[in-house]
Amino acid sequence: MIKYKLFCKSCEAKFDSWFASSNEYERLNKKKLLTCHKCNSVKVEKTIMSPQLINSKSKIDENLNLKKYNKVKKTILGYQRFIKENFKYVGDNFAYEARSIHYNDKKKSKGIYGTASQEDLKELKEEGIDTQMFPWIDENQN
Ligand SMILES: [Zn+2]
Repeated sequence: MIKYKLFCKSCEAKFDSWFASSNEYERLNKKKLLTCHKCNSVKVEKTIMSPQLINSKSKIDENLNLKKYNKVKKTILGYQRFIKENFKYVGDNFAYEARSIHYNDKKKSKGIYGTASQEDLKELKEEGIDTQMFPWIDENQN
């Protein structure tokens, strides 16, 4: 069963009607067997989904994505806060600092965080220095 919103061109009435299938609707329509519930006119047609409806749906999707994004952002910001509180920020010196910790065996020193190039990370990995990549968001950025 399929429900269509029908529109009467004669009296502008709108009403719902059930059909076995969309084909049945086409068949009845061609044979002029569809009549207006109000004025019995045969100038009845299926209303087409309005563009507004389509727009409002994409708006819902957008909101969903935004919600998802905000959730992920919140998680990342939570990690960032943890990192900021427990790790030492070394900025662009990350590779240098990571090496100095590694080679000077400063095992007990505070962890560090900062920025490094892909190249740096690759070299550090080859030297057996563990690093973790982490997406970083500017808290003031939307
Ligand atoms: Zn009518």
